[in-house]
Amino acid sequence: MNETATRVYAEIDLDAVRANVRALRERAPRAALMAVVKADAYGHGAVPCARAAQEAGATWLGTATPQEALALRAAGIGGRIMCWLWTPGGPWQEAVEADIDVSVSGMWALEEARAAARAAGRPARIQLKADTGLGRNGCQPADWAELVGAAVAAQAEGTVRVTGVWSHFACADEPGHPSVPLQLAAFRDMLAYAEKEGVEPEVRHIANSPATLTLPESHFDLVRCGLAVYGVSPAPELGTPEQLGLRPAMALKATVALVKTVPAGHGVSYGHHHVTDSETVLALIPAGYADGIPRHASGRGPVLVGGGVHRVAGRVAMDQFVVDLGSDGGRVRAGDEAVLFGSGAHGEPTAEDWAQAAHTIAYEIVTRIGARVPRVYRNA
Ligand SMILES: *Cc1c(COP(=O)(O)O)cnc(C)c1O
Repeated sequence: MNETATRVYAEIDLDAVRANVRALRERAPRAALMAVVKADAYGHGAVPCARAAQEAGATWLGTATPQEALALRAAGIGGRIMCWLWTPGGPWQEAVEADIDVSVSGMWALEEARAAARAAGRPARIQLKADTGLGRNGCQPADWAELVGAAVAAQAEGTVRVTGVWSHFACADEPGHPSVPLQLAAFRDMLAYAEKEGVEPEVRHIANSPATLTLPESHFDLVRCGLAVYGVSPAPELGTPEQLGLRPAMALKATVALVKTVPAGHGVSYGHHHVTDSETVLALIPAGYADGIPRHASGRGPVLVGGGVHRVAGRVAMDQFVVDLGSDGGRVRAGDEAVLFGSGAHGEPTAEDWAQAAHTIAYEIVTRIGARVPRVYRNA
């Protein structure tokens, strides 16, 4: 692709993905690493990122939906794959046939896994998910004995193999949060119960990116890293990517579509929330909320253009927004590059900066970059 002719594109550096996987493996040296590639690898492209992560030593891949896991297999990706967000009637048999580890949070899911195993003629690899306090998916402690008992019975009849026991943190991105040790204790209890009942999990796991980075006692046999694999910091309090030893993999770049001088007192974009205070130069950036640029960053989102960082002037529209270049105006021409975010190494804003501007988290900034934005891969 000729990037200079491209309206907006996301440049993905697969060497950064590899370096981040290696850095995370060093942070959790006794655990295996699962690269979480759900939601199209947080907007970075599931298949290329899965391959890069495997090249750097990730032995597991994780997805939310079974469809995402099956798509990886359809692309020819081997190794262990686990998916955890099931609904009744989901593609259980396809998952069993594709050698995907499936998460089971309740009795209905165990029943569907058993039925799929019978139809497929081979055992389902299931991982029992404990709700140790997140209060989202997973089996409550009060229901654990029933689920574990049924799983052990299904294992004895040969329809399932319990390959894992796992859970997920609510507040691992807030170091020192009191729920973290409570969840770890609950996980150890639920794990001990399952093992006493005869479950021999190959992998026990609870750590996401922030726990991998800050909480070694949470690493167990496997760490599940999503955002950190893409080099983005899970929370400002944890540090910048650089401080965490990570390299941002995505840079979002656009081509300036129009540069023009407008008089003082000119309204800019829908609603006229920005009005020029003197004669100035505006640059039109051809990317909008349909591309994943958060409308909540209207008036605030930062863009590197013409050697300086300028803020979105007025509203972000569906396909475009404007920056007021002020005294830098003379240096910018239509066709110049505008960098919305990147590693920050060349003065450009970061995904974390956009998260702050939009009052959201960096997870959402990279993940919501839309399907209309081409991904351009470096170091494939
Ligand atoms: C998304 C997800 C992860 C990865 O979380 P990060 O904070 O991005 O590392 C891990 N486990 C589960 C269950 C998830 O849904």
